[in-house]
Amino acid sequence: MFKKILIANRGEIAVRILRACRELGIQSAVVFSEVDRKSLHVRLADEAYAIGPAPSRESYLRIDKLMDVARRAECDAVHPGYGFLAENAALPLACSEAGLTFIGPSAESMEALGAKTAGRQLARRSDVPTVPGTNDPIEKIEEAHAMAQSMGYPVLLKAVAGGGGKGMRLVEKDGDFAAAFRDAGSEAANAFGDGRLYLEKYLEKPRHVEVQILADAHGRVVSLGERECSVQRRHQKVVEEAPSPIVTPDLRKKMGEAAVRLARAGRYVNAGTVEFLVDAHSNFYFLEVNTRLQVEHPVTEQVTGLDLVKLQIAIAAGHRLPFAWETLTPRGHAMEVRLYAEDPDNNFFPSPGKILSRTVPSGPGIRLDEGIYEGWTVPNDYDPLLGKLIAWGNSREEAIARLRRALEEYTVTGIKTNVALFRRILSEPDFLRSEIHTTWLDELLRRPRVSGNETSAEVDAAAVAAAMWHARQGSATTNIDAGGETSRWKSVGRREQVDRQP
Ligand code: ADP
Repeated sequence: MFKKILIANRGEIAVRILRACRELGIQSAVVFSEVDRKSLHVRLADEAYAIGPAPSRESYLRIDKLMDVARRAECDAVHPGYGFLAENAALPLACSEAGLTFIGPSAESMEALGAKTAGRQLARRSDVPTVPGTNDPIEKIEEAHAMAQSMGYPVLLKAVAGGGGKGMRLVEKDGDFAAAFRDAGSEAANAFGDGRLYLEKYLEKPRHVEVQILADAHGRVVSLGERECSVQRRHQKVVEEAPSPIVTPDLRKKMGEAAVRLARAGRYVNAGTVEFLVDAHSNFYFLEVNTRLQVEHPVTEQVTGLDLVKLQIAIAAGHRLPFAWETLTPRGHAMEVRLYAEDPDNNFFPSPGKILSRTVPSGPGIRLDEGIYEGWTVPNDYDPLLGKLIAWGNSREEAIARLRRALEEYTVTGIKTNVALFRRILSEPDFLRSEIHTTWLDELLRRPRVSGNETSAEVDAAAVAAAMWHARQGSATTNIDAGGETSRWKSVGRREQVDRQP
């Protein structure tokens, strides 16, 4: 087993990983930027090393600095968390050159499965249904245009290097195709340094259901079941649950087998997620593979009783998975909400600042994975995710009741949070019946609120302010809803990946 692991991340996920290290008796070394000197991950780790100024390009995305810390701290493995460099094949390559174990898949698997068109091609070859569309990057607009016409509108233009919904454009009619193609291409070029696009049929009101897989280095690949992630704001997940209320044991088996086939084809080792869209007739279509731990991994942990981070570490250390997937059935129901420092009454404008006071929920079935504490200042420089609140119950109803109860107990002063959004979602009849789809929340938020008394001019001003904040952060704001902000570190990390490829 490893002696010391370098955690190449920050915030709640760095805390999550160092907790697993501590339980395994492994030392943890973390890195921090200038604004993170007082962060919780720095306080809790065994060792912490400064790696530069706040901008992630000068700190958390610097592979050379990470390798230097790993050498100085005498680490034997590196865990990337999610975001930043987690899906950047240059990191596992640098680790192997430095004689370190990367806790994740190989660079080859990352490239074979992580790039969107490569993943689609492998899915095709592995007999995994994909959303209809092109499997190669589009070379000529005329070809794509003809393809869109034969597929029939609406279609979705997507960035090959995509992430965080960037470079994605919904095209509803033929006349809009050329302009959408230009916009999506230049947005993708700006965000990822790669303007190549591909085309998918736009599925109307699908659900997002993803399968968690684990694969060891001895050929065993297992599915840990699915997560339902259809509650999204501008294509970013905000509430996740396991199991999915629409997935029957038969569908679970089929989706699990498809995910395992794909992982095998990509010679995948470690934890990964195969994302699918599911239509109203329970047909599922491959979307993409995330070659890393997901933000929403706790809901799978709660219903399987497994610790995914410890299993990632064990797999990287060469251990065999101790179970077969046929033996795993979800127990009870788990639901997670993503707590952000942002203001739902002000178009979800980020709300960094000092946390003056807080009360945290606890009690039966409640888990809080956070990276914050009272008196800490949430920096302006990163994704404003504070943490995740997760509830487990014997049934979906009990999980929801516990989550609502916990949200009532949760208070933070000094910064705004999106807690009120979850109070609203968790009391919506459609959500309670799980009659949801990937644009359900956006539609809900467009409906006037009974208690809302803001004028449309105020709403517009807030939207402009939010767009300006994101522009300042170097993040293009347009996605298929035009004007949606997306997760910064997801795209920043992938951009780095593109930059570093020959
Ligand atoms: P990204 O990697 O940029 O997040 P994904 O391909 O993972 O992009 O898709 C993110 C979300 O966008 C999906 O969960 C879904 O809501 C929406 N989406 C993506 N592709 C399609 C499609 N073909 N039809 C309908 N919605 C889609």
